Amino acid sequence: MNRSPDHPREHCGLFGIFGHPEATKLTYLGLHALQHRGEESAGIVSSDGQQVYSAKGMGLVGDVFDEERLQTLPGHLAIGHVRYSTTGSSHIRNAQPLLDDVPQCSIAVAHNGNLINTTDLRTQLEARGIKFQTTVDSEIILQFLAKSAPHELEAKLIQCVRELQGAFSLVILTEQALIGVRDPHGFRPLCLGKVDRAWVLASETCALDLIGAEFVREVEPGEIIWITGDGMRSLKPFAPSDIKPAFCIFEHVYFARPDSIIFGEQVETVRYRLGKELAKEHPANADLVMPVPDSGNFAALGFSHASGIPFAWGMVRNHYIGRTFIQPHQAKRDFQVRVKLNPLKSVLQGRRVVVVDDSIIRGTTSKLRIATLRQAGAREIHMRISCPPTRHPCYYGIDFPSRKELIAANHSVEEIRSFLGADSLGYVSVEGLLRAVSGKKEHYCTACFSGRYPLPVPEASDKYVLEKQC
Ligand code: SF4
Repeated sequence: MNRSPDHPREHCGLFGIFGHPEATKLTYLGLHALQHRGEESAGIVSSDGQQVYSAKGMGLVGDVFDEERLQTLPGHLAIGHVRYSTTGSSHIRNAQPLLDDVPQCSIAVAHNGNLINTTDLRTQLEARGIKFQTTVDSEIILQFLAKSAPHELEAKLIQCVRELQGAFSLVILTEQALIGVRDPHGFRPLCLGKVDRAWVLASETCALDLIGAEFVREVEPGEIIWITGDGMRSLKPFAPSDIKPAFCIFEHVYFARPDSIIFGEQVETVRYRLGKELAKEHPANADLVMPVPDSGNFAALGFSHASGIPFAWGMVRNHYIGRTFIQPHQAKRDFQVRVKLNPLKSVLQGRRVVVVDDSIIRGTTSKLRIATLRQAGAREIHMRISCPPTRHPCYYGIDFPSRKELIAANHSVEEIRSFLGADSLGYVSVEGLLRAVSGKKEHYCTACFSGRYPLPVPEASDKYVLEKQC
């Protein structure tokens, strides 16, 4: 999926498999299913029990790997990663999995999330003479564990995860083990599955579905899953009082695929409920309800069912846009928007339309989109947004623009409506958002909407914090 530049970006998808003769191929497929979580680089590390093999590159999974390259990654054990950079700039040396390749003690780490005590930990490690090779926070985890003999690794990993602060779902590979870790807040998802007799770890269950694996359960917040030839073990390195779930609710709003189960429920169902909440909180007099495809689809359906206003497809999506495409010099300002979603005049002409979208970040794309809908003949446009106004940055692994670029951080809803050129604008409330999920309300992070951060906000935190030190 080619994501809008006017959306916040997830920065990683993880996959791991142990005990399968086609481990690398299944990892490649798993990463394909997780491509929406990171489009800038992709990597796979595999092991045959004796030696590890690594390949990574910039671009989409299908661009980085072909049949020939996959054959350079033998073994029954593999981990993979897709990345959009949140810490460290987009560069091949920052692509993951990160690997410390030492015979009998090799270790590879793939990370989804953002650490918030990066500066302290890196300073401590550098004081011990460790030289960092990359500018990503994930290397702190690799260096913590590097050169551990197999019998020391468990104790070192437990010590490491207790020192990390922030968001971290991890998959780790050694010559003979696959390990999954989720931080005690469980910010980012990680699930456990099984295919034939092989164990699988993945950011989202849609990756299990693609390879025909059964969904066993989610890795719990604060849990380590340790898989070797002797089977699977669950370790709980944190005291129960340290386990404080803060599931990223934006995963349900936008990031995760609707066909995934995360934080105990189907993403599609939550989006549908968000649409119902929106219809209750911000009703509209209109002739039809349409989504901004694809992330607005299920919320629009929920709005339509709750309001009784018919659902219609008012825009057609072009699925075949590459990451870059040649555009005419004379391209109109709305070219980039129109090339992805073309309005349907036959549906829109003379109609009062409710348009459901998942979020507004800068507002520039929404403004152009509303203009194209008007040109296509829509008489009234009522924008409905299935999350609250996004007013605060995220420090736990999602890349929002700076506060000055977040339109809702600096403008009232009425000012945003006027900027967009909509006839009305309504966002679901934080309470409505929390009603749409079935877990305990206090188990979700809503900081980018509410400003209530579940962990202290690091000073001067941005994604290049490590580069500034180098
Ligand atoms: Fe998710 Fe927003 Fe919390 Fe970041 S701040 S973890 S995007 S809910």
